[in-house]
Amino acid sequence: MLRNKSKALFNKTKKIIPGGVNSPVRSFSAVSSTPFIVKKAKGSSITDIDNNNYIDFIGSWGAMILGHSDNRIIKKLNSISKNGLTYGAPHEAETKIAEFIIKNIPAVEKIRMVNSGTEATMSAARLARGYTNKDIIIKFNGCYHGHGDAFLVEAGSGAATYGKPSSSGVTKGSSKDTISIPYNDKELLKKTFNRYKDKIACVIIEPIAGNMNFVKSNKDFLKLARQLCTKNKSLLIFDEVMTGFRVNFKGAQHLYGIKPDLTTFGKVIGGGLPVGAFGGKSKIMDMLAPDGPIYQAGTLSGNPLAMHCGLETLKIISNKSFFKKLSAKTKSFVNGLNEIAKKNNYPFHADSEGGMFGLYFTNNKPKNIEDIKNSNIKHFNKFFNYMLSNGVFFAPSAYEAGFISEAHTQKDFSEVYKLFTKFIKSIT
Ligand SMILES: *Cc1c(COP(=O)(O)O)cnc(C)c1O
Repeated sequence: MLRNKSKALFNKTKKIIPGGVNSPVRSFSAVSSTPFIVKKAKGSSITDIDNNNYIDFIGSWGAMILGHSDNRIIKKLNSISKNGLTYGAPHEAETKIAEFIIKNIPAVEKIRMVNSGTEATMSAARLARGYTNKDIIIKFNGCYHGHGDAFLVEAGSGAATYGKPSSSGVTKGSSKDTISIPYNDKELLKKTFNRYKDKIACVIIEPIAGNMNFVKSNKDFLKLARQLCTKNKSLLIFDEVMTGFRVNFKGAQHLYGIKPDLTTFGKVIGGGLPVGAFGGKSKIMDMLAPDGPIYQAGTLSGNPLAMHCGLETLKIISNKSFFKKLSAKTKSFVNGLNEIAKKNNYPFHADSEGGMFGLYFTNNKPKNIEDIKNSNIKHFNKFFNYMLSNGVFFAPSAYEAGFISEAHTQKDFSEVYKLFTKFIKSIT
């Protein structure tokens, strides 16, 4: 598979866009490669400018739950765009998508739309701090909450101590009120609350983590977080930017039966256009400007195309059979991979929830980012490059999840099974 045009364009782009990309993971640097440049995408397939086709298991990081360029969505966008592209004034689709989400997610009584997941989590954290009048944010190692300064923080020197910046350019001031501790560690969470109890504004968590590969939280752990937040008058924020309308129709909070105070959304709710949102209890949300003292705004927030595109997507996936089918399809995909690994005695495990999955190059199901770090990353990188050169596009990093859309077919899976078997034989 030749990628000459992609390589040439990428080299040219590197001169004018840092790293050649508008978001770092796209550079394929984690897997020692360079990216293909997309020409178009349809269904489960992406075509690059060299006219190579790839079966796409990323779907714009989960957003494309119906597959690329779905006819129903394209039709909606075509008709709606005739009425204008942005108004800077209220319009009806904003009310409709808010109503739709509130009706389906019990923990959300009021919601505000923004333009990205990053904006959603940043705004939710500010709201939590303003509402509680406290400063500290507790997050978990390996969870990603966008690139807001307060989240670009890694664990400090001792357990349960203030974090340090994980990116250059983040001041000690912005990181000193964030504490990052291991995922799924109940004892340390208790200890952290004991130490800082009346200073904690919020706990923010991906209830199923999709940014350290795919790692489920334990129900006991989430329950403890809920209890500790309630007891200490801190807010529990579920970052469902990735899991919302992805692991099932009502998100990870429905799966675990735990109600967060605030929830953040993104990805799927835009149906492919740039959208984020945060919502929760009315008495908390009412603290936002213009009614309350906590400022938050956006020129393009509630953009009409994005609202219509998102709402249309949500309506389609709200059909009862949608997630039943998608979950079964995803499960059968990972089961197929597990069987091949087992048959060939290859240390590997795959897991899924709804339309989201994880591939681990180890025998064990991971419980935190350390387990992923200890998996065979070298083999993953070889796997990625082998698959890519044979027309299959998995996430270009061992620390990312994968996604199945309505458009994926059994034929797509058979192709991957065939290649996976060959890959194992070539590496063992
Ligand atoms: C993608 C993601 C974000 C950031 O969203 P952007 O739209 O990329 O800013 C935040 N949190 C989680 C859990 C995500 O997966």
